[in-house]
Amino acid sequence: MNKKYDFCKAILRAKLTQLTYSTQISVAQMKVFKFGGASINSIERIKNVAKIIQSFAGEDLLIIISAMGKTTNSLEKVAEAFFSGDKEKAITLFHQIKEEHLQVLAQLNPTPQNFLSDLFTEVEWLLHDRPVRDYDYYYDQIVCCGELLSTAIVSNYLNTINLKNIWVDVRDIVRTDDNFREATIDWAFTKQKINDAVVPLFKETKVIITQGFIGATDENESTTLGREGSDYTAAVFANMLDAESQTIWKDVEGVMNADPKLFRDAQFIGILSFKEVIEMAYYGAQVIHPKTIKPLQNKGIPLHVRCFLKPALPGTIISDLPVHNLPPIIVLKNNQVLMQFNSKDFSFVEDNLVNKLHQLFVDIKIRPNLSQNGAISLYCCLDDRPEKIEKLALAASELFDVQVEKDVVLLTVRHYNETIVTELTANKIELLSQKTKETIQVLLKNS
Ligand code: ASP
Ligand code: MG
Repeated sequence: MNKKYDFCKAILRAKLTQLTYSTQISVAQMKVFKFGGASINSIERIKNVAKIIQSFAGEDLLIIISAMGKTTNSLEKVAEAFFSGDKEKAITLFHQIKEEHLQVLAQLNPTPQNFLSDLFTEVEWLLHDRPVRDYDYYYDQIVCCGELLSTAIVSNYLNTINLKNIWVDVRDIVRTDDNFREATIDWAFTKQKINDAVVPLFKETKVIITQGFIGATDENESTTLGREGSDYTAAVFANMLDAESQTIWKDVEGVMNADPKLFRDAQFIGILSFKEVIEMAYYGAQVIHPKTIKPLQNKGIPLHVRCFLKPALPGTIISDLPVHNLPPIIVLKNNQVLMQFNSKDFSFVEDNLVNKLHQLFVDIKIRPNLSQNGAISLYCCLDDRPEKIEKLALAASELFDVQVEKDVVLLTVRHYNETIVTELTANKIELLSQKTKETIQVLLKNS
């Protein structure tokens, strides 16, 4: 009874907040939208995105669109082939990507100009070279073209159907350091750029189309912010433009309590707090990029997660309001390794050794998802990025006896109860587990 009452109150409060938001607008406030790759993976879907945008006619929108479908994965293959010295393969793979985009363009606009050619040339020119810098640098120069191509195509299509918009190369706006593949945004520079170069555009247009996930260094090298980083870029824009709200358009009804692809009876959650979503993202829920929340929370900008296939549905609203009585939230992280660092001579693992190990994590840029200390062993669960794991194992073997166990899964349940944990761990070997009042984590291996 009480639970239900609390929940109704929360909904009412969220509705009231929405009302307050809409009455507060004295200066023109804009909305930030982010459309993911699945929302534009076919001609019909691109047209559907156009319809959604059309339904917000009259409002100022800054729209971030991901690379089409699985383009980022395909571009990663190009980068790998190029870096391994297989130039032919890299060029062939890139040619396929180019053809796919040209076909989409041709179907959307029968008389396109050659506006994609500069973007293609940027990559093709590089592929004819020989790699002399490190992998992450080339990765970023190649992979960034996915979002540039998709946004250029969608922007062009919208203009042809008279949905006037301006396309912005976000690399002229978002300045980052040169930590390739995981670049950090230069907040002050980017904010200034947004004020000087983006804000004035709203005098000329209602709709700005740009990219997430990518940026550029002060030497105009392209950078990326980490996979799935578009949500984060959208939040950075929302923060810097003082947006009224941010909406992430996905192929699901909203945020669910588990991945619906893995759990058939996953439940929809209508209202969530920023705090809960930060926790979910931290544990690896694929809902929203972990860095997305802070820029929104800092300015009290609500985040909506809505379904591009069913735009009439309200979706999930995430805001500062606390939400109680959530269902168990299940997160599965596949592709994990358990590394065990044992002291070499049976002595206790001293602080000094632990510090050295932590320094290795920093140097190799890998962070444990879970760790546990014992008298003579340290256990760490990490993402299985083979190149990094090998490097780590090698370097750490100077300090410890290292054991690596592959193919493990990290299960996290927030707001758990015994029944659900028993159900989820049945027929599996438990390698390690940790719990707090709110969260349980179990490292599992198939038996
Ligand atoms: N296209 C990039 C990726 O798939 C970024 C994004 O979509 O957020 O990781
Ligand atoms: Mg995506």
